[in-house]
This record gives sequence, C-alpha cells and structure tokens, in this order.
Amino acid sequence: MSKTPSVLPVMVASENGRAGMSAAMELLRQGGSALDAVELACRITEDDPEDHSVGYGGLPNAAGEVELDASIMDGRTLQTGAVAAVMGYGSPIMLARRVMEQLPHVLIVGRGAERFAAELGRQPADQRTEAALARWRERFVEHGLTPGVDGDLRGLARQLAVPVTLRDRGPVPAQEVKRDDTQGTVNFLARDQRGDLASAVSTSGVAWKYPGRVGDSPIIGAGNYADNRYGAAACTGRGELAIRVSTARSLILYLKMGMSLIDAGLEALRDLVFLQPTSGHYMNIVAMTPDGAVAGFASAPHGVYLHMHAEMDGPQLAERICLPEQE
Ligand code: ASP
Repeated sequence: MSKTPSVLPVMVASENGRAGMSAAMELLRQGGSALDAVELACRITEDDPEDHSVGYGGLPNAAGEVELDASIMDGRTLQTGAVAAVMGYGSPIMLARRVMEQLPHVLIVGRGAERFAAELGRQPADQRTEAALARWRERFVEHGLTPGVDGDLRGLARQLAVPVTLRDRGPVPAQEVKRDDTQGTVNFLARDQRGDLASAVSTSGVAWKYPGRVGDSPIIGAGNYADNRYGAAACTGRGELAIRVSTARSLILYLKMGMSLIDAGLEALRDLVFLQPTSGHYMNIVAMTPDGAVAGFASAPHGVYLHMHAEMDGPQLAERICLPEQE
C-alpha cells in the first residue's frame, strides 16, 4: 500500500546545481519521486557546456579525453547504479540509473559502460568543448610542456594536477568565492512527498587526471549514499580522500549511531583531516536527514552549497560548516 503524500519536498546540492535543483523541485512539487528528481537535476547540469566539472564540457584528463563518472542511489531499497571512466557518451547519470534498473551489477566502467550505452541506443558524442580543450592546452603551456604529448603520462598527471584551494584564496566572503573549476562535481540529494530519499552525483573528475582514474563520485559509500532510515550524503572535492575514509557512508553510519546531523558531518570531516590532506586537496559534503534537515560541510573554509524546500521560491546558498579552528 502506498503512503499518502504528506511530506514537504526538500533538496540539497553542491553550489553548481542551481538550474537542476529548480527543475527537479518542480517535479517533486507535482508528486515526482526523489529518484527521478535527482536524475533530472544531474542531467541538466551534465548538459550545461559552461559547467567544466560535469558531463559535456567537462575538463579532460591528462591525455585530453573527457572521462565521466556518475552514481545514483535509492534510499528506499539501497539499490544503486554507477558508471565510471565513460568516454564518448553523455548523460552518465542516466547510464548509472539504467545499471541500477537493468543489470545485476552496481558499477560498470570504461568499455563496458560505453557498450551498455550503445545497447541502450545512445549515440556516441564527443564530450569535449573547445573551451575545455583550450584549458587543457593552456595547462600544458603553463608548465612548459607540449600539448598532446603521448607516452609516459605519470609525471604529467602529477604535475598538472596542482589545484588552487579555497583555503589558498584567503578570507574571501562566501558570495565572492569563485569555484575552482579544475575540480568539481555535482551532488543532489532529495526527499519527495512520500518521504523517500535519493542521491545522485556526476562528474568529469579531477582535471588532467591520469587516464582511467576513478574518483569518489561513482564509488557508493565514498562520494554518495542514501538510506531512507538515516539520511543521505554526497561529496565533491579530492575523491581520493573520500574513498580512503568512506566519507558518505561514514556520515550516514554516524547518524545511525545516534549523532545529530552536525555532529555526524563534523566527525566525517575529522576522518578526512586524519589523512593530512596536502594543500589543494579539500573535501565538501552535503547531507540530509529523513526529517528534511540539511547541512553542508567542508574541510576548507568559505565553501557554499544550495538548499531548497517546496515552499521556497528558489535555491538558496548557505555556508558550509568547517571544523572549529582549534581542532
Ligand atoms: N570528487 C571528484 C573526483 O574526485 C572531483 C571533484 O569533486 O572535484 O573525481
């Protein structure tokens, strides 16, 4: 028997999710599911060529190819699907959802994911925009290298992947902080009218990464987790960190163990700090509990996230919570 719709829809997202959140909230207002809402929101961000961290127009790897990762999770059933290192096809979140619904697996990578896309009737399409390729060429030139060199990319991926941190920017008011677009991902968490939770994450990964590198976004438990009973969480930032301490699932486990949302987020940040991340390697988390409370957390100051409930006119920015200075 289905539950009577009675709950106020809520969404939370990373800062780059504004357009997707607005459209997805409309769907939730009309009674759509949290799962459909987070997929729709991700697809809108993936199709935006101006967003260089996700989907079409995402920044390339060290070899100049765009490789996409995405995952989706259904908080009712803990079913999930993910794809990683997909080249030549768009809408990785759609592929992730189909993996969840049509395959007896949760994660399909590279050639297999591309084959799956073709079987679904998707047309291959170059995900590189001129602007993204220009950024890639510039990055080589900045390092005195010749764009497109073939061969040993090991040193290159290390050398090129030196990001600018929010922390390095000093004390800038949140509304003036520009996103570091050599990193980035989009996160969406939603609660629908039935009180069901879902989460979705999509990314082109860290720019100039070694080909085939997979971050936290398609790794369930690292960059994405949703469980109707306790809450949902998703990450952006240096994926290697979230993988090492299972950030998204840890936060949900802390909630399960009885912590408040704020305490659970702070504990997840402590796990990350224990890794002693080097400069430029930060991690952001958005989280939601079944009662519709939301929060954002960050390992470096001045980060922001978006939140909205169905009675609000549009998404609003809020500052992410950091660990207290003295810790
Ligand atoms: N988390 C993504 C990854 O590591 C990138 C990012 O959010 O900056 O692939």
